[in-house]
Amino acid sequence: MRGLLVGRMQPVHQGHLQVIKRILEEVDEVIICVGSAQLSHTIKDPFTAGERVMMLTKALSENGIPASKYYIIPIQDIACNSVWVAHLKMLTPPFEKVYTGNPLVQRLFIEDHYQVTVPPLYYRDTFSGTEVRKRMLEEEEWQALVPPSVKEVIIEIGGVERIKHLSKKEVSEK
Ligand code: NAD
Repeated sequence: MRGLLVGRMQPVHQGHLQVIKRILEEVDEVIICVGSAQLSHTIKDPFTAGERVMMLTKALSENGIPASKYYIIPIQDIACNSVWVAHLKMLTPPFEKVYTGNPLVQRLFIEDHYQVTVPPLYYRDTFSGTEVRKRMLEEEEWQALVPPSVKEVIIEIGGVERIKHLSKKEVSEK
């Protein structure tokens, strides 16, 4: 059986890793969709889809999850929620179960007759993309919130400098 997880993963954090491990206890293979693939270089969505794919691939490898157990597929947003599931299905292998905590994603898959499971959240106040990005901006400890290999990717791509640069205000001469 194949399960599906969708997330913006801005960036991939320990919560994503825990939920992927839990899904793999229930299904043979997991399809991990990197949502909002067209977005990057904003404070809310700083990382490109390719960078997020790299974070996931390295974090799963670091945790001993074989590549035969997952598919990582970037999915761009579309304007019409009502046909988003069809858009996603066009790009993914077939799947039977959907795992998501996001109410909109739950609703869209339920209306397409999928079995939807809401996985438990691990320390959601801490393990969240919003919290990681906030800590990067405020020069607080963010490294422990992401898998070690994701920390390395963020350092490699200058992720903290990027998010800080994007948050700068334009300086006017007068
Ligand atoms: P996210 O990265 O915030 O979370 C993804 C999933 O990870 C969650 O549903 C949850 O199951 C899990 N998770 C997150 N933190 C966790 C924690 N601490 N512990 C355990 N599990 C945790 O992403 P999201 O916002 O849910 O992503 C949905 C994506 O789907 C977005 O990119 C959105 O744009 C896209 N989408 C697009 C359309 C459209 O294009 N019309 C419609 C619906 C959804």
